[in-house]
Formats: sequence, structure tokens, C-alpha cells
Amino acid sequence: MMGGTFDPIHHGHLVAASEVAGLFGLDEVVFVPTGQPWQKSDRQVSPAEDRYLMTVIATASNPRFSVSRVDIDRGGPTYTIDTLVDLRAQRPDAELFFITGADALAQIMTWRDGDRCFDLAHFIGVTRPGYTLADLDLPPGRVSLVEIPALAISSSDCRGRVARGMPVWYLVPDGVVQYIEKRGLYREGPRRRAPSA
Ligand code: ATP
Ligand code: MG
Repeated sequence: MMGGTFDPIHHGHLVAASEVAGLFGLDEVVFVPTGQPWQKSDRQVSPAEDRYLMTVIATASNPRFSVSRVDIDRGGPTYTIDTLVDLRAQRPDAELFFITGADALAQIMTWRDGDRCFDLAHFIGVTRPGYTLADLDLPPGRVSLVEIPALAISSSDCRGRVARGMPVWYLVPDGVVQYIEKRGLYREGPRRRAPSA
């Protein structure tokens, strides 16, 4: 599983999932868009349905990728322990792996019930440009660290680009570019009209 705000989902997320699936021989990668995330309560997160649909659009062509609504449907802030417990209940016989970028891994220790999370899933930390996986005080044997192709893409940068009128083509899947445009996501302030002649 790969949790995220996915506001919007981008090729960094998709490469991380694909690479880990290949390295660990995973049957399925379940993308789990968060409910209203407490870590990001300082900014307005796009509606859950928009983030969910962008995640579906981005993953639809890959037969091993799927999207779960557990965190969105539970409502409220997402705690990873709840996500893991719900996915475990839906897949009682599965071996669970939790894929996370270097930046998010650094926060694991601050998560509520961090120890129980490590009991429910094997954690896989992937490299991410601008963050270091070294120097992390992680529980021995519970976390694998893997190097993946470096894509310096973040959702924050994608949102900023749309707000400034810069392109996000090739940073996010084509269908996501079109969805952002169709729904008017990430635009700065009210939509500006061209002055009439
Ligand atoms: P934001 O800028 O809004 O925080 P983000 O790009 O970090 O967005 P998230 O939805 O916060 O995306 O991230 C979900 C997961 O994907 C996290 O574990 C994060 O570390 C990982 N991730 C995001 N972008 C990359 C990337 N370019 N390379 C590797 N991992 C990534
Ligand atoms: Mg992030």
C-alpha cells in the first residue's frame, strides 16, 4: 500500500510504487488517498473526491494498481494505524508492505501507534530527491530502504505551477492534467477573464 494526500498524484508516486512492486514482487499496490490530513491542516487540501478520482485516473492503466477509499470513507484525519488495520481486515491472508518516501519515513516515529504499525506491515522507505534516508533511527529489521529513480516532483510544486500558469505536463499523467483543468483545481483566486475588446 501507498498512502498519500495525492493532491495531485504525480509520476514520483507512480515510479515509487512501480519500482517497489518490481523489487519485492508485489501482487498489488493499493493507493490510499488520505482523509483530511492532520499533518497538512495548515493548508486547504482539495476535496477528497477530486483526489480520489485523480488517483483512479493515474492508476487505471496498470493492472496491478488499485485505489482504496478506506481513509476517505472513514472521514476525519487519517492515522496510518487505522489504514493498516482496515486493509488487514479486507485482506486477512495478505502480507502487507507500506511504501513511503524518505521525508514521510522521517515522521513515522512521531506517528500515533508507530510501534503497532511496524507489527502490521513491513515498511519500505524509498529515496526522494532533497531528503536523506541515512541517519534515521529506525527499528531494526522492520524497514527496508531502497533507491529508486530520482524524480524531483512534488504535489506542492505541481499546485504552485498551476497557480502561476506554468505547465504540469509530464510531471503528472495526461489524464490528471486534464482533470485539474476541467475542475479548475489549484488556480490562484477567482478565475480571471480575458478583458473584452
Ligand atoms: P506535498 O508536496 O503536498 O506534500 P508530495 O509530493 O509529498 O505532496 P504526498 O501525497 O505527500 O506527495 O506523498 C505521498 C507519499 O509519496 C509519501 O510517502 C512521499 O514521501 C512519497 N513521495 C512523494 N513524491 C515522491 C517522489 N518524487 N519520490 C519518492 N517518493 C515520493
Ligand atoms: Mg508530502
